[in-house]
Amino acid sequence: MAHSSAATPPQDERPDVQRVRESGRASVVVIGGGINGLATFRDLAMQGIDVVLVERDDFGSGATAASSHMIHGGLRYLENGELRLVRESVHERNSLLRIAPHFVRPLETTIPVYSTWSGLIAGPMRVLRHQKGKRATERGAAIIKIGLTLYDTFSRDNGSVPRHRFQGRKSSLEQLPALNPAIKYTATYFDASVHSPERLALDVMLDGQNANSNSHALNYVEAVGFDTDGVLLRDRETGRKFHVAADVVVNASGPWTDLTNEALGRKTEFMGGTKGSHIVLDNPELLAATGGREIFFEHQDGRVVLVYPLHGRVLVGTTDLEADPREVAVCTAAEVDYFFDLLGEVFPGVPVTHDQIVFTYSGIRPLPHHDDMAPGVVSRDYRIEVGESSSGAPVVSLIGGKWTTFRALGQTLSDKVLGLLGAPRVVSTDGVAIGGAVGFPATDAERAEWMSAHLSRLSDERQTVLMERYGSRASDVAMFLAAGTDANIGGMQLSQREVEYMIRNESARTVADVILRRTNLAFMGLADAEVLATVGTAMAEPLGWNGARLQHEISRCEEVLESRHTVSRSASA
Ligand SMILES: Cc1cc2nc3c(=O)[nH]c(=O)nc-3n(C[C@H](O)[C@H](O)[C@H](O)COP(=O)(O)OP(=O)(O)OC[C@H]3O[C@@H](n4cnc5c(N)ncnc54)[C@H](O)[C@@H]3O)c2cc1C
Repeated sequence: MAHSSAATPPQDERPDVQRVRESGRASVVVIGGGINGLATFRDLAMQGIDVVLVERDDFGSGATAASSHMIHGGLRYLENGELRLVRESVHERNSLLRIAPHFVRPLETTIPVYSTWSGLIAGPMRVLRHQKGKRATERGAAIIKIGLTLYDTFSRDNGSVPRHRFQGRKSSLEQLPALNPAIKYTATYFDASVHSPERLALDVMLDGQNANSNSHALNYVEAVGFDTDGVLLRDRETGRKFHVAADVVVNASGPWTDLTNEALGRKTEFMGGTKGSHIVLDNPELLAATGGREIFFEHQDGRVVLVYPLHGRVLVGTTDLEADPREVAVCTAAEVDYFFDLLGEVFPGVPVTHDQIVFTYSGIRPLPHHDDMAPGVVSRDYRIEVGESSSGAPVVSLIGGKWTTFRALGQTLSDKVLGLLGAPRVVSTDGVAIGGAVGFPATDAERAEWMSAHLSRLSDERQTVLMERYGSRASDVAMFLAAGTDANIGGMQLSQREVEYMIRNESARTVADVILRRTNLAFMGLADAEVLATVGTAMAEPLGWNGARLQHEISRCEEVLESRHTVSRSASA
């Protein structure tokens, strides 16, 4: 998603921006508050480094907000021979199930298989790197079996993840009766999914801020240039520009990495991102048809297709199209048609209509420059390039990096920075619980006990919402809610004081920050006019908005929902 441009009346300077501006220096400036910039920020802050992160929009609003929500070992990367990436991805997947269990859960994944032998030659050949850049037309059972057996050996984590299983047509259709009856087999294995990625990104940011009083993460602050005084920043709320001198600058701007380097005075051609879109459907029959699993396969054109239940809706994705990061990525009508065709293939008896689409989203993958290689086979691994700025300070650019590997990537990037600073690594982030995972109850019984100890003043439904949204941080939120009068918003999904909590503790600045990234209201199709107005009103007092400003902020959110997420104003009204 490119950054929002709607003109906003100037505001007072935020205290943390003022602190950074008045200090005017930091050991490290990280540009970009997507998951990879945030993971690097957290890692550096935990080493005691004074680090400033700037994000021109909201945290987690770029490629980070556009993912398929999978935390996966990368079954497909095996086929491309990217064994390092698979090894790291499965380690991180298994680790995230332990260090972020409030957001990352096991995901049972089923591949429908229509033939026995297709792709048998092409698949292993590519593992052996004989056919790099080309792809098979279809995966048959034999090649999927070989792939999953290999994947099992890579990913079972001493047996804690179940082995894959293959089932014939009859038993597959008994379990998933709505599947296309033309299937010959299904293959089922386990990966993981992150149910609220932007919230996990916030937890990573908060860990960094809490680790070290000299670390600051600022949203709505943009890096616009570079000179001998350091990185030139612009506070997008006040319009004020200021410098921060740094020993090392990290460019973690995702798909916009070349554009940021250009703004810093250095021409690079590292990036070649591709656009991917998703739609979200409110269709109970389709939801039931998934049987609670992700249905995952590679379409004949090589694109990965996934259909799975999330927050009571069905997520369908994704596409893989060449894209220009200067333009805002949106899901087009052609992409919607493509998704509908696929749904017709997988679940031919389940009716799906356009008015069941409650939300769409799209983003650009921060992939490396890839000439004429087919987008689907471009390496998903990351690399780091070090260049020099005009002041002589090193600029470290990140190229690539998936959601799944953010913790390991943050540590690798931080090691590079520590090397440049001549500073030691104090702690590893491997295995360290993230945010609301600290003290998160592991079993159902512990969860019930924990909720009754910390959340008992709230209704059962609110308790569940807060646990899903904050993990063990829900106890802090409940205390904040109890300290004043409160009223619910959008049924039990949110409350006025909770919005205030998000402003005071999670840097929420706009209505869209709350609707899109700190809650799943937009994803679930619940961001109607009344919800927008109530959220806006709850934000007005703590942020000092007058009536005109409140109207402006609500319209701005409506405009974002309409232009980027296919939520029409008439529907939201
Ligand atoms: C369609 C799609 C599906 C995906 N599915 C998965 C999946 O299922 N699993 C998985 O592991 N990965 C997935 N990914 C990949 C993953 O989402 C991204 O690789 C990851 O989120 C990239 O994070 P990032 O921090 O590097 O980039 P971003 O999230 O894009 O962050 C970069 C940030 O830099 C900011 N910025 C840019 N310029 C400036 C500037 N001058 N000053 C300040 N800030 C600036 C931007 O606003 C942006 O927020 C998917 C990606 C896409 C697009």
